[in-house]
Amino acid sequence: TASSEAALAITGLAKHFGGLKALDGVDLSVRRGAVHALIGPNGSGKTTFINVATGLYRPTAGTIRLAGQDLTTAPAHERTRRGLARTFQNIRVFRGMTVLENVMIGAERPGNDIAEQPALVVSRALAALDFVGLRADANRLVGTLSYGHQRYVEIARALAGNPHILLLDEPAAGLNMTEKHELGLLLRRLKGHGLTILIVDHDMNLVEQVADHITVLNFGRRIADGTPREVLTDPDVIAAYLGE
Ligand code: ADP
Repeated sequence: TASSEAALAITGLAKHFGGLKALDGVDLSVRRGAVHALIGPNGSGKTTFINVATGLYRPTAGTIRLAGQDLTTAPAHERTRRGLARTFQNIRVFRGMTVLENVMIGAERPGNDIAEQPALVVSRALAALDFVGLRADANRLVGTLSYGHQRYVEIARALAGNPHILLLDEPAAGLNMTEKHELGLLLRRLKGHGLTILIVDHDMNLVEQVADHITVLNFGRRIADGTPREVLTDPDVIAAYLGE
């Protein structure tokens, strides 16, 4: 079935805060190997979606399946263990530790194939740093890197855990134009390696560059779902963004 082939399959997801329906029956299925973007105007429910998908909040209704396994009520650490890796809108790295040490934390994630093998943890972390172009900075303190490069450290840490799916929460937030462009190139390289990515962003520019598939939220409901060409020419989507 379609849902067993999906890396992440979410059906009927709802989250109510009192009378407010922050999410109101959202379906979203991320195909394995796809770069899938979740977009929508401010207040449309994107952050709530991430918080429910990663286990910070319990959904009011709906199901969440990761690689075919039901994780609807699983705590956040269990989802990480099962291969749901994420980055944060406000970067979360250990600034007083080296770049390599930060990335090794990802490689050591419980549930990773190499978690208990120290030599492999180092080599997996170095490979992830190679991928994001920071291998030469492995022994620098993260706090000495530019904001854009700290974002890369966070992405490398997620990659080092060999995740089933990488969830990027507004990865372009706080980046300048050059850094955004570089991030777009990095995401394309990740895609070229077959990584499955769910990218949540407000900004359409990055999304247009990298997404195979886009889901659009507005007022907690899915208003469009399809290829970038289908979605970005959809009158409801254009109206939602103009109506901000
Ligand atoms: P987005 O990330 O797309 O900007 P959010 O998920 O942050 O949207 O917000 C969706 C709606 O849910 C908004 O109306 C917001 O005020 C509300 N909301 C989000 N989190 C909470 C919360 N913890 N308690 C009450 N209302 C919330």
